[in-house]
Amino acid sequence: MDKTNDKGISAAQEPGYRPRTQAVRGGHKRTGFNETSEPIFLTSGFVYGSAEEAAAAFATPTAGRFVYSRFANPTVAVFEERLRQLEGAEACRGTATGMAAVYAAIMSLVRAGDHVVASRALFGSCHVICSEFLPRYGVTSEFVDGTDREGWKRALAKPAKAVLLETPSNPMLEIIDLPFVIDLAHKAGAKVVVDNVFATPLLQRPIDLGADVVVYSATKHIDGQGRCLGGAILGPKWLFDNDLGQFLRHTGPAMSPFNAWNLLKGLETMPLRVDAMCKAAHGVARFLEGRKGVKRTLYPLLDSHPQAVLARTQMSNGGTVVTFELDGGKEAAFRFLNALRLIDISNNLGDAKSLICHPATTTHQRLKPEERAQVGITDGVVRLSVGLEDEQDLIDDLKRALASA
Ligand SMILES: *Cc1c(COP(=O)(O)O)cnc(C)c1O
Repeated sequence: MDKTNDKGISAAQEPGYRPRTQAVRGGHKRTGFNETSEPIFLTSGFVYGSAEEAAAAFATPTAGRFVYSRFANPTVAVFEERLRQLEGAEACRGTATGMAAVYAAIMSLVRAGDHVVASRALFGSCHVICSEFLPRYGVTSEFVDGTDREGWKRALAKPAKAVLLETPSNPMLEIIDLPFVIDLAHKAGAKVVVDNVFATPLLQRPIDLGADVVVYSATKHIDGQGRCLGGAILGPKWLFDNDLGQFLRHTGPAMSPFNAWNLLKGLETMPLRVDAMCKAAHGVARFLEGRKGVKRTLYPLLDSHPQAVLARTQMSNGGTVVTFELDGGKEAAFRFLNALRLIDISNNLGDAKSLICHPATTTHQRLKPEERAQVGITDGVVRLSVGLEDEQDLIDDLKRALASA
């Protein structure tokens, strides 16, 4: 069994460990078998020693007894506790996908008649939830250009229930000033939900900056090896004890225990992977910037990034994605993608394998042309998620493909 402190708490679970330690150790309390790796409890339900015990478990659902894996599961709980420690949040719940996390977080905050303000440059499905789904339930929504301070002031001059934003944004890597927007949102009566996927828990800490809720697609850097889908919601305990807890319990977007185990293994190496990927992404961005055939290169740590100063104050590193615009529009972008030999064409990101996509015809094809134009996604824009390959091999691949584009 684990070594425990004088309060009976597993010594490895005491507060105060640093992120790399939390990523490896967080949440795992060994069972009587003294296993090294976290066990997978691939079970839908749990049994009771007596009818009285079953009745008691249902009477006080918060008593910590596992009842049914839609409500909670031991392996999922280890994942939730590990991510909770890393994020520095009061509570965490895993979900089946990142979109399930976004949807549950927003839906549990609003009622018919409420208003939601969101940054315009949102992940495609998040945009659809705000623009198409919320209005069906009597919730109005409006979009603000994330970098437009006056726009935020105008939108949040009237009451709102929730603000949903993403920074850096997908795919144009716009940086939103978190303390500025959070302060305005709170004055308008809104809770702030930050989609922190591009920054990961390691590079940007929205809760420390005042955000109420943080959501992740665990499919991205947390798994980081292309194996499974997952999501997570982090925030204050009151939210989970009330609306959000009930929403998750009764609508059922639960994380699979097997996926939770994969994601636990992903968290163990995430700090090392993200660190190496950021370093390579910065190198690739420096290579691309100013190169013939490349109109512009976006990476938060480049001095040419429109919000380079804000990026450096808000984030501890630049992230793993580089977005760039090729001369020659869609034809040149397609020729370039097709000429790559190592980097795969795929719409995922945060993976150990470098992946590239053409947002205008894939991830963002559902937007109207004028909406794409508003966020700067021209036909020449490509988004590169830098993986763990040798940086020079990636640069060689890009160089060769640029020559043939
Ligand atoms: C991928 C992604 C999502 C959705 O996550 P899924 O796991 O695919 O459901 C939401 N927001 C951002 C920023 C993403 O990159």
